[in-house]
Amino acid sequence: MIISEQKSQTELLAQLTEKEHIFLIGCAACATACKVGGEEEVFQMQEWLQTLGKEVTGSVVIDEACHIMRAGRDLRHHKVAVAAADALLVLACGAGVQSISACSEKRVVGGLNSLFLGNIRRLGQFEEKCSLCGECILNETAGICPVTICAKGLLNGPCGGVEDGKCETDRELDCAWHLIFERLKVQGRSGVFARIVEPKNWGKKFKPGRHENRK
Ligand code: SF4
Ligand code: SF4
Repeated sequence: MIISEQKSQTELLAQLTEKEHIFLIGCAACATACKVGGEEEVFQMQEWLQTLGKEVTGSVVIDEACHIMRAGRDLRHHKVAVAAADALLVLACGAGVQSISACSEKRVVGGLNSLFLGNIRRLGQFEEKCSLCGECILNETAGICPVTICAKGLLNGPCGGVEDGKCETDRELDCAWHLIFERLKVQGRSGVFARIVEPKNWGKKFKPGRHENRK
């Protein structure tokens, strides 16, 4: 899921200067799980805006704000409240904000900072595991991503800084390549250590990304 944090009130206030009528939008997927853009946070945002003397014309929490068609459908369901607003404040990741921008010509204000694609360790604790590099080598690295977990993103590790299995950038952290070696050893295979990994073809990671499922 996309891990996000709320922008500071100072930053939001600057974006909402002279915007007195605001429609609030949350996301029931990632932003809800991160506790930054679900029903509760939309309600808290509404209360805060009202203490500032602003009018909240309405609100909606979209199932997945990154789904452009659903975002458009939900905005149409609230078209009167949306029309009455002079800004749409979106508590969703950057993809969600852009869904709303694609569906409305109103001023759209993003209320979150999108941080990374993350796994949930436990409630409220997230870890980055994948950098979406476009050429996955997990099958050779025993399911541990060196591109993301290694502080240097090395494809042929470990570097000379590893000590007692710990990373030189932070001795509290396990070295990704040490973890890969140990996991492969348990599995009785050499995996990625059987070859020199060529530099990644970052050309595959062109922007903006496009993909269509093939039937
Ligand atoms: S190698 Fe790592 S960054 Fe690349 S797709 Fe696989 S998990 Fe993601
Ligand atoms: S010690 Fe290990 S995890 Fe840290 S930078 Fe070197 S190879 Fe990467």
